[in-house]
Amino acid sequence: MKQNIVILAAAMSILAAMGLRAQHDGGTAARALIGQITSDSLLSSRVADFVDHYPHRLSGSSMLELGLDWIVAALRRDGWIVRQQNVMVPHWERGEESVTMVSPLRRKMPMLGLGGSVGTGGRPVRARVLVVGSFDELSKRSADAKGRIVVFNVPFTDYGSTVRYRYDGAVQAAKHGAVASLVRSVGPYGIQTPHTGGMGYDSATPRIPHAAITMEDAMMLQRFQDRGETVELELAMSARWLPDAPSRNIVIEIPGTEKPNEVVVMGGHIDSWDVGQGAMDDAGGCFAAWRALHAMRALGMKPKRTIRVVFWTNEENGLRGGRAYEEQTRNETHVLAVESDEGTFAPRGFSTNAKGPLFADLTSYAKFLEPIGAGTIEEGGGGADISPLEEKGVPVMSLQVDGSRYFWYHHTDGDTFDKLDAKELNHCAAALAVITWYAAQR
Ligand SMILES: [Zn+2]
Repeated sequence: MKQNIVILAAAMSILAAMGLRAQHDGGTAARALIGQITSDSLLSSRVADFVDHYPHRLSGSSMLELGLDWIVAALRRDGWIVRQQNVMVPHWERGEESVTMVSPLRRKMPMLGLGGSVGTGGRPVRARVLVVGSFDELSKRSADAKGRIVVFNVPFTDYGSTVRYRYDGAVQAAKHGAVASLVRSVGPYGIQTPHTGGMGYDSATPRIPHAAITMEDAMMLQRFQDRGETVELELAMSARWLPDAPSRNIVIEIPGTEKPNEVVVMGGHIDSWDVGQGAMDDAGGCFAAWRALHAMRALGMKPKRTIRVVFWTNEENGLRGGRAYEEQTRNETHVLAVESDEGTFAPRGFSTNAKGPLFADLTSYAKFLEPIGAGTIEEGGGGADISPLEEKGVPVMSLQVDGSRYFWYHHTDGDTFDKLDAKELNHCAAALAVITWYAAQR
């Protein structure tokens, strides 16, 4: 590490002596950052320590707040000045829940209520099933939906297209008189694994209970219906809303030496669903950003502009953390916001909405990530937590990774530490470090 610092300092003083603006340095800082981060397993051991002790970090839960306390204490032990941005977050609890097939045979089915759903009012809802493959088919069979439990058996194509049934399924089913709705879990592959996630209601439609069943069971219900058999299910959910609860974003930074009021921010969300460990969604993303900043400090690097890491709260069922961050930093200028919330598998590069010269510069910085396979910059978006900044015109970026396994585990009990890989995590941190460093020097 000492050697890295010496090389970096020498290169920087040569550049300064040449009177070059640090548009970039030929990749010296990138090589130092990649070397520093990939030299140890600090990142993966910290993620494991955290998620093993603090799984199920749903907003409003004491587990989330205890986890935040642990992070604050760990960061302070590391010597960071830690800021906390207070914010009130929604508080929904799943409670007891079950789906049981009662006809033509009795069988309990794996399920997860969807976040924000109402419960079944203290007793199970028992009704016949109508299986549909789209909102269109539901409209066509409207007369058959009345008094039924509507099951959306929609195969996964991509997240954006398929998640509509999870998010809007209850409203659409209720419009046609359904008493409850079930959605085939949003994922490309399953081993009888239900996937939870957020859902919504509108003010004009009765609120009916809404839950996810496995893809295997959705297909089975379809087969029963196609054979002309009548299926009856019993759904019991004691889900409920509680008053909003206090939470916070956690913020650390290296202040800029020349333009401290101009900020490059990066991070992920530290809340999760109340299943699994929230390891890839999104403790890995949060700690990768932390590791990036930690490396800059270890190398003695002093950015021109402030480089900041945020552990955002309440992304999964409210986005209050991202909104509070935007509201509480309006006295500053954000030059770039970077999120890592698409998993921390092998990084490929970044997507960004940046245009023109900034896009060109980001592309040139990403070239320094080619040795770790993360050199691609493509046009696209940022992430949920930085969307309030994006709405104010801040350029945003999202870390892009090998996403082939992400939706196998997304929002399930399978999102646990073992799905992550120490080397891939380090490469994610290195990619974040390199992009944010050069963006702050621009
Ligand atoms: Zn996430």
